[in-house]
Amino acid sequence: MKKLRNLILVLGDQLDPNHPGVAAMDPERDAVWMAEVSEESSTVWSHKARIVLFLSAMRHFRDRLLSRGLTVHYTELDDADTSLSHQLSLDIQLLQPEELILVECGESRVEDALKQTACEHPLPLTLLHDPLSLCSREAFKTYAQGRKQLRMEYFYRDLRRQYDVLMEGDQPAGGVWNLDQENRHPLPRTGPVTSGNRPDCPPDALTREVMARVEERFPNHPGSLEHFAWPVTPEDAQAALDRFITHELPSFGRHQDAMWTGEPFLSHSLLASSLNLKLLNPLDVIQRAEAAWRKDPEHWPLASVEGFIRQILGWREYVRGIYWLHMPAYLEKNELEAKEPLPNFYWTAETDMVCLRETLGQTLEHGYAHHIQRLMVTGLFAMLYGVDPKAIHQWYLAVYVDAVEWVELPNTLGMSQYADGGIMASKPYAATGKYIQRMSNYCKGCRFNPSESTGEKACPFTTLYWDFLIRHRDRLQGNPRMSLQVRNLDRLTGEKQQELRVQATRYREEYRS
Ligand code: FAD
Ligand code: SF4
Repeated sequence: MKKLRNLILVLGDQLDPNHPGVAAMDPERDAVWMAEVSEESSTVWSHKARIVLFLSAMRHFRDRLLSRGLTVHYTELDDADTSLSHQLSLDIQLLQPEELILVECGESRVEDALKQTACEHPLPLTLLHDPLSLCSREAFKTYAQGRKQLRMEYFYRDLRRQYDVLMEGDQPAGGVWNLDQENRHPLPRTGPVTSGNRPDCPPDALTREVMARVEERFPNHPGSLEHFAWPVTPEDAQAALDRFITHELPSFGRHQDAMWTGEPFLSHSLLASSLNLKLLNPLDVIQRAEAAWRKDPEHWPLASVEGFIRQILGWREYVRGIYWLHMPAYLEKNELEAKEPLPNFYWTAETDMVCLRETLGQTLEHGYAHHIQRLMVTGLFAMLYGVDPKAIHQWYLAVYVDAVEWVELPNTLGMSQYADGGIMASKPYAATGKYIQRMSNYCKGCRFNPSESTGEKACPFTTLYWDFLIRHRDRLQGNPRMSLQVRNLDRLTGEKQQELRVQATRYREEYRS
């Protein structure tokens, strides 16, 4: 082989079948570099399913390139503890490339480390724009300039216009931009009509090999592999998308925020991991959903389709913009000065709070919980309890198969913990257990009562909600969106507030142990 010109670095969340570096490579002079390193599984204590998903998808990607006759320098996981930059350093010395090519990364720590490695050798590194990002880092920066407050809703409308999604001329389809009034209803008392929605890509031989290796290499990591069936190839992901559009999208919106015992998936798409690993192109997903509505709006109601598209075109692009606009300082934010360690039951699901037991149990079983479970059960509890934002961030990054920092961090630190002081959300998502009671059947089987804030049966969410308002009253009273909650707090007698504080302290001590 001639002297190596470009070494194209492909990371575990960059498995785009049209990867721009690979698409432009000269097979005679360039090669691909991929590495499985222990650091990426143990920087946070990753769920076994998350590790298997990434490694199996990487190996499938490698094999696809090899079958096309491309050269791939691939390091499989071994027993040594190593980092991405260390492995790259070793391979640069061995392969002596003239230049490194990298697509924008999903984590600023990784991008900085790889840039640093290039500098040390020294080698030029070309950073390519990620074509699967629908709003580039630069475009978001321009969008943010001069705006006092960034809100997802207006950003989303701009992207709808830009990509001509659900538009009738220059107006939104159906006459309104956001149809959530028709969405987000609780389930009927009888519960969901079970559709059997679940990850449905049974592991092939390569995935089973990775599963065995992960069990051997990371035996003490959290989570189970028993039900592993996440998509690991673009074909798997397309099949999952087809299934979702056909069977679940019609009812996606209506019960999007609902929760039900023993029903981890309801009508959710389960596509986040495929989108984040780049097995799916987000614009294709959006266009498939829109095409379904245009074909048969009775079967695929606009409210469901718009609600789904907003999650991907709106929220997903918005959080990426926030992440890159504010990193690395974002990681250090702790507006509410929360310091508590994460209660241990987050890793075991052993708690008598049914909502948490259900959400944590399915998280450990499948590496999955849907948005409202993440925001209004595990996230809400952590915020009310006062968990250190870094500790809860590391937990979310570890336990979900779709966890990649650019999307996880703003959702956790910003949306769920209000640790960024209002960059992501205009107010803390603070609520009592009554919210969970309204949106689920969890409270029915629970020994606590969401209507009680003190006493034997007091729901810890409700107690900690009032305690949260008491502790942060001065900070929150200036926020017009919190004024009703602060006024309600002020109606409580001093004696009641004291009782609440005592009970909250008791709960905090109990869960700390
Ligand atoms: P669906 O409910 O079917 O939604 C469709 C798609 O919309 C998702 O696949 C996802 O790509 C996108 N989406 C929906 N909500 C959001 C959102 N708030 N931000 C960005 N994209 C969104 N999402 C991740 O992809 N990775 C994470 O690590 C992650 N961490 C989160 C942590 C917290 C504390 C919270 C509150 C949310 C987090 N989310 C994360 C967002 C959301 O919860 C997941 O995308 C969703 O639950 C994944 O399940 P699904 O694919 O079935 O999504
Ligand atoms: Fe959760 Fe409280 Fe309801 Fe129990 S009563 S399930 S702790 S919200």
